[in-house]
Amino acid sequence: MNYSEVIAQTESKSRLQSMVEENRVPHALMFTGPEGSGNLPLAIAFATHLLCKNKAHQGACGTCSACIQLNKLTHPDLHLVFPIALTSEIRNSDYWVKEFRAAFLKNPYLSLEDWFNEINADNKQPLIGADEAGDILRKLSYTSFEGQYKILLMWLPEKMNLDAANKILKVLEEPSDNTIFLLASHQPDQLLPTILSRVQSIPLGKLSNEDVSSSLQSKFGKTAEEAGQIAMLADGNFNEAIRMLEEDELGHNMMNHFQTFMRLAFSFDFPKVLAWVDENAALGRERQKRFFQYGLEVFRDCLMYNYGHRDLVRLSGSERSFLEKFAPFVNQKNYEKLIEEFNSNCYYIERNANPKILFLDLIMKCNALIAPAKRN
Ligand SMILES: [Zn+2]
Repeated sequence: MNYSEVIAQTESKSRLQSMVEENRVPHALMFTGPEGSGNLPLAIAFATHLLCKNKAHQGACGTCSACIQLNKLTHPDLHLVFPIALTSEIRNSDYWVKEFRAAFLKNPYLSLEDWFNEINADNKQPLIGADEAGDILRKLSYTSFEGQYKILLMWLPEKMNLDAANKILKVLEEPSDNTIFLLASHQPDQLLPTILSRVQSIPLGKLSNEDVSSSLQSKFGKTAEEAGQIAMLADGNFNEAIRMLEEDELGHNMMNHFQTFMRLAFSFDFPKVLAWVDENAALGRERQKRFFQYGLEVFRDCLMYNYGHRDLVRLSGSERSFLEKFAPFVNQKNYEKLIEEFNSNCYYIERNANPKILFLDLIMKCNALIAPAKRN
């Protein structure tokens, strides 16, 4: 990862570039900043700069053997430590390192919540434990593979428990040669003051709306208008901006999905109905549940629209134009039945009902409920 892949933070980047160029890299640096500001990707970009074999002032070359490994986060002199859910078997982050690399490469701005979703550990306590700290001491006692720096990058050091923090403090007090600690923290105030006093801080500010907007345009091909709207809501948190983007796309897919379903319910072209049922029975349970929830939202908005409460309609953009065409088919007579069908199917899907039977039944019921409305 190169500096250019990290959004803005120009001042911090030039400070880091000068450290490498002037060969005065402190043995412990802490990148601080709010969620979505990019402290983790900037720490990775700095590690890449340090370990690159053909480094220049601007950063890593991107093509040497070290850079190729670093772009996959697999360089043997880069040790990654991050919070995990501790169990009797899983005591350190090595267990999850493949998943962590994949999650970071997919989204370098990921949050702790994203990470815990990734390893299905939501609702568990994120921790960096004492066994992990012991492992760190062991790893740093080896000589470096490439004969240059050994880098220990810890994401969210504020999640260390007291035992771990005390062990790490000892290493920070007596640093070994060519060992560099990079810490990326959102809440440095939760760390021991003795740790804070031994690291040099690289403070990152919240991103500006302009920076978020222009990155959404260049990285995701959004128009200036779309990007501007998301940037305003994301309030300087790039991870939040990405999340909103994904939800937007998911909403769009759901709309197409729902439209197809309703067209089939109208036309009742039986071979096409069966093909649709087969296709949807194969989707995951979560997607199937979302389909029902989406339907409930559409019916509710249709009713609001029909009764003239247009300010209460939540769908917007292309979803709204679909709604305006579909709303006349949802009326007082069929509304309650539609809600009941979608609600109960959502319930049955959660309880492992056979999705083929369920979808076929639903499409027939919707035909009976909605097709007469079309003729009226
Ligand atoms: Zn390189």
